Amino acid sequence: MFDKVLIANRGEIALRVLRACKELGIATVAVHSTADSDAMHVKLADEAVCIGPPAARDSYLNVSQLLAACEITGADAVHPGYGFLSENARFAEILEEHGIVFIGPKAEHIRVMGDKIAAKQTAKRLGIPVVPGSDGGVTEDAEAMRVAREIGFPVIIKAAAGGGGRGMKVALGEHDMSVALSTARSEAKAAFGDDAVYIEKYLQKPRHIEIQVIGDGQGNAVHLGERDCSLQRRHQKVWEEAPSPALNAEERERIGSTCAKAMADLGYLGVGTVEFLYENGEFYFIEMNTRIQVEHPVTEMITDIDLVNEQIRIAGGAKLSFTQDDVKLNGHAIECRVNAENPATFRPSPGRITQWHVPGGLGVRVDSHAYQGYVIPPYYDSLAGKLIVHGKTRTECLMRLRRALDEFVVDGIETTLPLFRTLVRDPDIQDGRYDIHWLEKRLANGLMDG
Ligand code: ADP
Repeated sequence: MFDKVLIANRGEIALRVLRACKELGIATVAVHSTADSDAMHVKLADEAVCIGPPAARDSYLNVSQLLAACEITGADAVHPGYGFLSENARFAEILEEHGIVFIGPKAEHIRVMGDKIAAKQTAKRLGIPVVPGSDGGVTEDAEAMRVAREIGFPVIIKAAAGGGGRGMKVALGEHDMSVALSTARSEAKAAFGDDAVYIEKYLQKPRHIEIQVIGDGQGNAVHLGERDCSLQRRHQKVWEEAPSPALNAEERERIGSTCAKAMADLGYLGVGTVEFLYENGEFYFIEMNTRIQVEHPVTEMITDIDLVNEQIRIAGGAKLSFTQDDVKLNGHAIECRVNAENPATFRPSPGRITQWHVPGGLGVRVDSHAYQGYVIPPYYDSLAGKLIVHGKTRTECLMRLRRALDEFVVDGIETTLPLFRTLVRDPDIQDGRYDIHWLEKRLANGLMDG
């Protein structure tokens, strides 16, 4: 096991990793930009190193500064959290070259899953169901048209180098195919410096269902059930829950065991998430994230497994401490991402928090780096905290969530709490009837107006 872990991140996830390290008896190093000197993880870590000015490219993404911080403090491993360098295969390799362990998957697996076309081909080879579409990139318009006719319209044209929901265009029929292709190519070129695109069948009312997996790189891999992250705005997840209100036990078992077997065959090491669109009882792979995710607590609440603890132990060479049969899903959990944003316009609302009172009681968890007097800097994402609630049933979970949301008081900045207070009372949400377009449509129809 490691003696000292450097946490190459900030915000709530830095604190989450720090907590896991403390429980494992591992010393911690916080790194921070000049904008984060007052951050909670900096105060709680055993050591702290300032790694640069506010801009992420000069601090949290600055590999040479991070290496220097490891050297100064004698850290033997780095936890990258999510975002920043967490899915950068080169960073993982550089650490290894310096004798420092990257707490994450093998570089080759980060690299293959980071390339959308290679990821899809790998998934297919491993027996994971994928969205029908072109086998790889398409360069000629005629070829694109042939693929689209074969799979049937509507189709979606995606940037091979894409990410963050950018560089995607839908073509409803043959008439708008050439415009969609050329726009997708030029957007891809502008955003990613690469105009390669590929084509997929466009699913019209899917849900976003993702499977949490964990493997020890020694042939053992299990799944921890799914999370339903269909409530999204601009492809950003807003509310996540587990189990999905849309799946039955047979579907869960089928997709879960497919993913677990695929990860065992791949020799996958660490935690990961296999993301699917789900429509009419079928799953369609869209991508795999090779890191811990924002919404991981939802899975922790229903499995009672500490994912970050397992992630650190496995990176240290331990075997998985449980088998598939040991994994029992208990009750229901929902996570709300409380962002420092206006709840109707979603304009970021950085600034000083003058009041911060979090809810408590049975089944209520708040993962946040915020505190009264803390200033949310304007330079990074707007996540102020996550409210995670657990109940024996989905109904109990919703009741508990409603009262927890009503207890939550934040002053000084705007937050998305009012959005969640509206959502938790909505009949469609209560019935679990929503797809990936539900939230955008409801917002466009004035869900948060007045
Ligand atoms: P990114 O890496 O940019 O996030 P993804 O491939 O994960 O791209 O897709 C992001 C989102 O775009 C999905 O969550 C879904 O909302 C939508 N999407 C992607 N592929 C399809 C598809 N074939 N049909 C319908 N919607 C899709």
